[in-house]
Amino acid sequence: MRIHALQTGSVRVKRSFLFAGKGVRRQLDLFLPGPWADPLPIHCWAIEHGERLLLVDTGEVAAARDIPFARFEVARDQELPHAMAAVGLSLADVSEVILTHHHGDHADGLVHVRAPARMSAAELAFIATPFPRLMRRVLRQPLPSGFAPRSLSLDARPFGAFPRSLPLSEDARIVAVETPGHTPGHISVICVDDADRHVMLAGDATDTLEQLHARRPDAAGPDPKVHVATLERILAHCAQHPTVYLPSHDPDSARRLGEGITVS
Ligand SMILES: [Zn+2]
Ligand SMILES: [Zn+2]
Repeated sequence: MRIHALQTGSVRVKRSFLFAGKGVRRQLDLFLPGPWADPLPIHCWAIEHGERLLLVDTGEVAAARDIPFARFEVARDQELPHAMAAVGLSLADVSEVILTHHHGDHADGLVHVRAPARMSAAELAFIATPFPRLMRRVLRQPLPSGFAPRSLSLDARPFGAFPRSLPLSEDARIVAVETPGHTPGHISVICVDDADRHVMLAGDATDTLEQLHARRPDAAGPDPKVHVATLERILAHCAQHPTVYLPSHDPDSARRLGEGITVS
């Protein structure tokens, strides 16, 4: 198995996004003037396993519009086809795409992909409800054109500390697990690598490893309690199995993948 970090540009977010306040300030601060953090990478991931090439997320595109708490820095030549070519891969060889959640910096790159995509049934149900529909309109963040991922349903099959999961490969070395919080239907993908480490492609379960250790819910998720419960579950999993934890926007994720650095 080979796992590649793909980077499709960067995003700058407000500090209040990374270090969320409490109570009403948690989401309000996102829309008020405030300091901005340094740019963070926008990663997605390619997994070569047997005959298959799986993508986990598809990154952002240059046309993405900024929002009150995020500014996208993506050039055309940083979009998915170029990010894949940079590691010697071709979009034509992709067998399937798994989306961790519906946000544009994870799903917009789907415009480049012909292979089928899947997203969790819970996330598909969530994006059809009125509030996220309204937010997409207010923030001018439409779903990518032709967006129609198939539904992926996890079942009551525990995987490590996660009570529900779904194998994504026949040998069950690639597994989807539920990580709700950032969005209600957010999932992560865990790969059991050739050294039997678990490589967790964590999407936006947290922005950084530091946020995981701090057990700090983010500013975006609808229910901080759900988010904190997920962070506890991820930490419990990391305590059971050596796990390389790779959030999409952590500046250290690519290095931790390359060096096989597990959560301690
Ligand atoms: Zn997100
Ligand atoms: Zn993101």
